[in-house]
Amino acid sequence: MLKKEEKIFRKCEHPGCEAEGEFRAPKDRQLKDYYWFCLKHVSEYNKMWNYYDGMTQEEIERENKLDETWHSPSWKFGISLDKLASQGKLEDPFEIYDKFLRKRPGNHTNNSNFVNVPKLSLEELEALKFFEIEFPYTKIQLKSKYKILVKKYHPDLNAGSKNAEEMFKKVVENYSILLKKIEKK
Ligand SMILES: [Zn+2]
Repeated sequence: MLKKEEKIFRKCEHPGCEAEGEFRAPKDRQLKDYYWFCLKHVSEYNKMWNYYDGMTQEEIERENKLDETWHSPSWKFGISLDKLASQGKLEDPFEIYDKFLRKRPGNHTNNSNFVNVPKLSLEELEALKFFEIEFPYTKIQLKSKYKILVKKYHPDLNAGSKNAEEMFKKVVENYSILLKKIEKK
C-alpha cells in the first residue's frame, strides 16, 4: 500500500547537481517529454527558451559571464530573471517563474512588477523570435521589421531560391500572428 504523504525523491537532471528535481520542464516544444530540475536549474532552463530575445549586446555578454561562473556560490540567479520579468521580457509559458517566486523563502520582490508580463503562446514566442522583436511592440515597429524581412527573402530578389521561398512564407505567417496579437482586444 502506498502512503499518501510518501514522496519520491527525484534528482535534478542538471549534470552534477545533487538537489531535488522538483520542477518539471518540457524537453521540446511538443511538450511530450520532461526534465526534472531543481529551482535554480529550472529557472535557468526556462530562461533559455527565449534566451537572447530583446537583449542588448551588453546584456548578452553579461549573461554569458554568468554562465561561466555557473558553479560559483556567489551567483545570484534571481537578479536577471527579476529584471527581465519587470521589463516584460521574461517568457514563462509554464509559470515556473511564478512558482519560483511564490516558493522562494524571504522573497521581497515587488509583485506589482509582474502585472504587465505578457501571456504569450508558443506560436507567438516563435514569431517574436523570428522577427527579433520583443513584446510589447508597436504596429510601426512590427511593420518596419516586416518590410526588412520581406525585402530580404522576397522570391523575386532571390533568384528562385527554395530557402528564401520558405523563409518568405514564414515571414508572412509570423507577421500575421504578431499583427493579430496587437490588434486583439
Ligand atoms: Zn539542479
